[in-house]
Amino acid sequence: MKRLAERNAFITGGGRGIGRAVALRFAREGARVMVVARTEREVASVAEEVRSECGVEAAFASCDVAEAASVAAAFDRAREFFGRGVDVLVNNAGIAESAKFAGTTDELWRRHFGVNLDGTFYCMRAVIPSMVERGWGRIINVASIAGKTGAPYIAAYSASKHGVLGLTRSVALEVASKGVTVNAICPGYVDTEMTTNAVRQITAKTGRSAEEATEAIRRMSPQGRLVTPEEVAALALLLASEDGRGITGQAINVDGGSVLF
Ligand code: NAD
Repeated sequence: MKRLAERNAFITGGGRGIGRAVALRFAREGARVMVVARTEREVASVAEEVRSECGVEAAFASCDVAEAASVAAAFDRAREFFGRGVDVLVNNAGIAESAKFAGTTDELWRRHFGVNLDGTFYCMRAVIPSMVERGWGRIINVASIAGKTGAPYIAAYSASKHGVLGLTRSVALEVASKGVTVNAICPGYVDTEMTTNAVRQITAKTGRSAEEATEAIRRMSPQGRLVTPEEVAALALLLASEDGRGITGQAINVDGGSVLF
């Protein structure tokens, strides 16, 4: 029996990286998936990959999660496609840009909160009522270990991800008795475009080579390596499945042991 048979899943930031890996993993377990992101070309390609590789139905939409109206339109499309409310929501869309704190502009600050925190809020608010009504639901927020700790030059990112953890814990308790679980995943550095961009920024600012910068990032993990998107997707699958029903309000690290709380 596939672990997500009969389930439907809505994945934000599903066009590449972690979101793509989650979409494929869920689809292999029988879920119908809808992937949304700002870049339509990428989500269209992931939906096609899901259909051809996994033989399940998939839909996509261009959506800016920082815009309430765009999120509302994407969930209208999801209701049309699934024929009912969303069973599993994965809030994965996110941005990460570095800046010295003193150089953090209003615009950079708001952009991080807009995508990482408002986006998570808008999507959760769109699905909670129907999950509670049906007595079953799973919400998985992809936060970061930066949501538990801090680091230089990422105040906006870290603060927005701390916000995601507060949101996760509070809503988890509000719906704990309704068959709905709400959890966060906190990855360390993952082998995706976001990390490639981080390497690029380190290289530009420090003059180190890309290999040196990547090695410095690898060394931040006691396992001495980057996490793979598939490892994050494996945890998302556990949280989305029936086996995960007792896990709620948690913020679980997938980081090779770099943060121990
Ligand atoms: P990525 O940059 O490869 O992918 C991000 C996805 O989010 C893309 O599909 C992009 O189109 C989408 N997106 C960005 N802004 C959006 C918006 N306004 N509306 C809708 N979609 C938007 O990054 P990734 O590494 O796959 O990251 C996924 C999540 O994991 C993010 O929330 C990120 O903060 C988190 N994370 C990543 C790492 C890492 O090292 N890569 C570590 C910890 C946490």
